[in-house]
Amino acid sequence: MSMMRTYLDWNASAPLRAEARAAMVAALDAVGNPSSVHAEGRRARAMIERAREQVAALVNAKPAEVVFTSGATEANNWVMQAGWDVIARAGIEHPSVIAPADASGARIITLAVAGTGEVETGRVAAAEIGRRLLALQLANNETGVVQDVAGAVAWARDAGVHVHTDAVQGPGRIPVDFHSLGVDSMSLSAHKLGGPKGVGALIVRDGLDLISFISGGGQELRRRAGTEDVAGIAGFGAAAAAIRAEQGAVAHMRSLQVRLESEVLSITPCAVIVGAGSPSRLPNTSSIALPGTASETIVIKLDLKGVAVSAGAACSSGKAAASTVLAAMGLAPEVARSAIRVSIGPTTSEADIDAFCAAWRGIAQERSKVRLVA
Ligand code: PMP
Repeated sequence: MSMMRTYLDWNASAPLRAEARAAMVAALDAVGNPSSVHAEGRRARAMIERAREQVAALVNAKPAEVVFTSGATEANNWVMQAGWDVIARAGIEHPSVIAPADASGARIITLAVAGTGEVETGRVAAAEIGRRLLALQLANNETGVVQDVAGAVAWARDAGVHVHTDAVQGPGRIPVDFHSLGVDSMSLSAHKLGGPKGVGALIVRDGLDLISFISGGGQELRRRAGTEDVAGIAGFGAAAAAIRAEQGAVAHMRSLQVRLESEVLSITPCAVIVGAGSPSRLPNTSSIALPGTASETIVIKLDLKGVAVSAGAACSSGKAAASTVLAAMGLAPEVARSAIRVSIGPTTSEADIDAFCAAWRGIAQERSKVRLVA
């Protein structure tokens, strides 16, 4: 039996773009080791350097500032474990920031988060001494709330504080400009933007010397050892180039998001759009709470109706606990425990939103039946 599926979980992983697949297939047959000097090696090397230029162009960085990694988890771990005395970060950061920061031995400053999702960076890190890091994500993976990273850099740079941004959820949705943001380092992940899973990058500001996290050979200008994932990197580069060429995707996603949220609120007036009051939210992400029904229940009901969404982040699903992101925003537990994340992409259609709304209406009807019986 086959069922039409509606995939609305792009923040967990986006479908592979055709351009990325083609580049990967071509790269799989590149026989040489990219560090070898012969023609075969140079051919593999050229694929990596082309991808480096494509990824650099996507975020307005210099190619030499791009270091390929196994993903954003590695990139975040790398920065958190680079020998800081003090790390300031909020509870809405991704676990790949929080866990290595907490394990690093640095003094941790937990930044406050407004109920609408903005991090209050204040100047807290400036009062500290020693090697100081501020980790401030560009956009949240669960709520889509966008942070004022450039604003934080404005004071942090003068205070000598390193600013790292996890920009995984940004490309293709909001402008991501490494140089105008002014950050010292930035994490990216290929599979969130239509590239393959298991590859990403740390963008490191020119002239900055971060101790390497994985040591061994001299790859990536001695910053990240290990024979490169040539096919993965080629796919990442092709996906980055495809996003730059895309027209109208942001306006398309924004209009679907507006429609989705207004229909949800008309079907279930008690629903809450988390982060709706923030100054800026991604055009593709809606965090929707339906107080009284557990997130996991909603996700399973939607899945049975052919619609794929998640309860908070994919990496924390399976656990019954409320999302740590929503808890850090100070949301009431009954709201946090009932939130799902709907995340869309450039190829999401009006029909996909119709399918979601029909399934949502079904859940609302099942809820009211339960209420009548109870
Ligand atoms: N940061 C954020 C904000 C994310 O959403 C994710 C993916 N869940 C990561 C980091 C980790 O990225 P990767 O899957 O490449 O390890």
